Amino acid sequence: MQTQTPEQSKNSEQTFGDLGLKKSVLRGIELAGFTTPSPIQAEAIPAILQGGDLMAQAQTGTGKTAAFVLPILHGLRNNGEVEALVITPTRELAMQISDEAFKLGKFSHTRTICVYGGQNIKHQISFLDKNPQIMIATPGRLLDHLRNNRLRNFAPRIVVLDESDEMLDMGFLDDIEEIFSFLPNDIQVLLFSATMPKPIQELADKILLNPTKIKITPTEVANTDITQRYYVINDNERNEAIIRLLDTQAPTRSIIFTRTKKEADTLNSFLCAQGYSSVALHGDLDQRARRSAIAEFKSHNVQILVATDVASRGLDISDVSHVFNYHIPLNPESYVHRIGRTGRAGKKGVAITLVSPLEYKELQRIQEDVGSKLELFELPVNITKKLDDLLATEISQDAIDTYNQLSSQAEPAQLCLKLLTHYLTHKSASFSAMIELDSRAKETKPSKPQRSRKNRPRSSR
Ligand code: ADP
Ligand code: MG
Repeated sequence: MQTQTPEQSKNSEQTFGDLGLKKSVLRGIELAGFTTPSPIQAEAIPAILQGGDLMAQAQTGTGKTAAFVLPILHGLRNNGEVEALVITPTRELAMQISDEAFKLGKFSHTRTICVYGGQNIKHQISFLDKNPQIMIATPGRLLDHLRNNRLRNFAPRIVVLDESDEMLDMGFLDDIEEIFSFLPNDIQVLLFSATMPKPIQELADKILLNPTKIKITPTEVANTDITQRYYVINDNERNEAIIRLLDTQAPTRSIIFTRTKKEADTLNSFLCAQGYSSVALHGDLDQRARRSAIAEFKSHNVQILVATDVASRGLDISDVSHVFNYHIPLNPESYVHRIGRTGRAGKKGVAITLVSPLEYKELQRIQEDVGSKLELFELPVNITKKLDDLLATEISQDAIDTYNQLSSQAEPAQLCLKLLTHYLTHKSASFSAMIELDSRAKETKPSKPQRSRKNRPRSSR
């Protein structure tokens, strides 16, 4: 397996010109404003140009699209046929890839066709008359065309599976296998994914021939542009916490991730009712509502996107200043995907995770797996609310007795100030106790090896 550390890529100061791409492609790269290949591009492009199959893994936001688009452009023969097929999970991603191919392919006379569900079939197929060289398709609609023999002389030389892990999540793997039964045997197959769960590896074993394997691990691309924080809250304080964080951190654009579609809707309604500019994005919305949500967010009409994992994965939205995890994500892969929505293209970003005491163990597991340390922050106190609560408190007999005891020892004003200081800095007792317990447990077992993804026993193999 080839890997590359950030140092290597920096020291060698590789340029796109070193990768073996032809002039017209290099001009497109220049026009797009790319100066240096990202690690996945530096590794994948020469490998693809050599002609063999490829299995490539790199985090979201690391430029995987250009890693396959550029060598495709390089190899175009412009012979009137569809030369490359890119399979991607959603219509939004198909259009994003098409945009990137158009941008980079300005000088390669590139024409693309997007094939996805929900569009009139005749209309869609009529675009084939324009002789596009690159077809970008979602699995369901493509398979429908293939089964009904609607694509005449369809024999692409190069086939890309993009965002493969998301296709797995969306249940497309069987469709993909069937699609391959309609394709010629002597094709070059490129599989790209942010993570490589077992079903993807099994699919790769079936459809790839002696692939070159490239893996840019998250730690190698450790995105120092993302500040990772967590805030401890009680379960019923999540909405209040989000609002306080939105008010104090003043994100220009933020994505709030929820675990469920219902939670996304509920939180979005709550934010809208409080006067925030927010929109929900999840899989229960129809295609039109999803597109509209993404468009509103991309065009800066709306500042907050409340989204579930599947609906938002892979989308390239730049200038997201903050990512919030409303709950701790279910697994490390999801955490990596989510925080990768910010700190893109060299910009700074903040990733904030809300953690309840019960979720704290889960947070540690993710930190160990991802290899990054989240910093504990305290929620800014909502003083007005605290004081309102204080003023609304009924005076107890205990308080009267204690006051009578203390009044001989301190001035009332001084006593009041001491009590206020105590009241305003008081932390969630149960949580502080938990962290303390945890650090004590660590102190007593200093030599225990850190559990990491690499040495964790896997049931497979
Ligand atoms: P991935 O598919 O790995 O999640 P994308 O291909 O969507 O990532 O790329 C993320 C963003 O980075 C896109 O806006 C893309 O135009 C930009 N990008 C890709 N490669 C480069 C590069 N070499 N230099 C600068 N920006 C790049
Ligand atoms: Mg991508």
